[in-house]
Amino acid sequence: MKLKTSIINSYADYLRQLHGERVQKVTVDGGFTCPNRDGLVGVGGCTFCNNASFSPAYSLGQRDLSIKEQVERGILRVKQRYRNVNKFVVYFQAYSNTYAPLEQLQRLYQEALDHPQVIGLAIGTRPDCLRPEIVDYLDSIAQVKDITLEIGVESIYDDTLQRINRGHDYRSFEQALTLLAPTKIRVATHLILGFPWESKKMWLESADHLSSLPIDFLKIHQLHIVKGTALGEEYQKEPFSLMTEDEYQELLINFLSRLNPKIVIQRLFGQAPQEMLLSPVPRMGTGAATEALLFEMKQRGVYQGILFKH
Ligand code: SF4
Repeated sequence: MKLKTSIINSYADYLRQLHGERVQKVTVDGGFTCPNRDGLVGVGGCTFCNNASFSPAYSLGQRDLSIKEQVERGILRVKQRYRNVNKFVVYFQAYSNTYAPLEQLQRLYQEALDHPQVIGLAIGTRPDCLRPEIVDYLDSIAQVKDITLEIGVESIYDDTLQRINRGHDYRSFEQALTLLAPTKIRVATHLILGFPWESKKMWLESADHLSSLPIDFLKIHQLHIVKGTALGEEYQKEPFSLMTEDEYQELLINFLSRLNPKIVIQRLFGQAPQEMLLSPVPRMGTGAATEALLFEMKQRGVYQGILFKH
């Protein structure tokens, strides 16, 4: 059963409308680290973070390849799966992909953009890794290419940011948005729903709050616990309660109902390899879970922004 996705403002539809055809992402590894791991702002990283759990399997272990080689391999892989895809966005995903000298960043990004079928870049980073000269450079490319900066925030609450050892506060996220506001760079952010010390009220207020910000795209995922993380160790010592899949679906329906319909949804469910999960393995994959959510919203006559207050 294939549902129309107009119930939410979906990224696939957005890309198709903008570029006139299907666009696929190709994930590359630029060999970056993260200031919350190398000691600049912290060590150990965010307590939920194990990059191997959220990077596509094919992108793991390709650090030693050049960006050119990774892009070519990634495009080939996509074309083997979907015949008629001719436009690609290169996704710099692992760690903090603006955390390097400008000259190094320019070389890596340009290597990706040199491929004739690459129409843009999506660059994942932290709010405290955006120097003005990097923003200026990316803005100059954004005049002719599709450039998105993905700025993780994970929670709008400083208490949570401290508890998860995020190494920055909410204010630094706002400062990054202010820096990007006058540019042509599109802005995505990530949010995790389900930290056990947060509440349903806080998550729904997050939807209201994000609705008022200058962001283009949103990725959300449920809190799941993976091996190799500080949160995983805490969970194994003293398991805390996590939302069930049904509870998460209900929360998403309410969250999306309040979310500004202009915000394009890039993701609603997180996925980690089964062997890395300490929390229960979801009964559905992300695609099936999204279809089930949209079906339920359709049944209820609910859509993104139905309760959004201007
Ligand atoms: S989630 Fe991002 S910011 Fe946090 S430790 Fe991992 S790579 Fe660094």
